[in-house]
Amino acid sequence: MSHVDLRRRSPGRRIRPKTTLFCPTCGHESTATADGDWMLVERTRDDERQLTYECPVCGSVVSVHSVTLAHH
Ligand SMILES: [Zn+2]
Repeated sequence: MSHVDLRRRSPGRRIRPKTTLFCPTCGHESTATADGDWMLVERTRDDERQLTYECPVCGSVVSVHSVTLAHH
């Protein structure tokens, strides 16, 4: 007798990670992690570091993160 494991995944709702970013211009959607395909552009101005997520499709700036550099 063979044992068959019929395990069904409920097709219910997909949980969308909070890190998902949307392009306001073309509607492109991807996660804001290393898995996403956003172009990460890093700029440093004075003591402030800016991390910009740019859309790979249309080049729009989707999100800007400011990171203040800690100096000693
Ligand atoms: Zn876009």
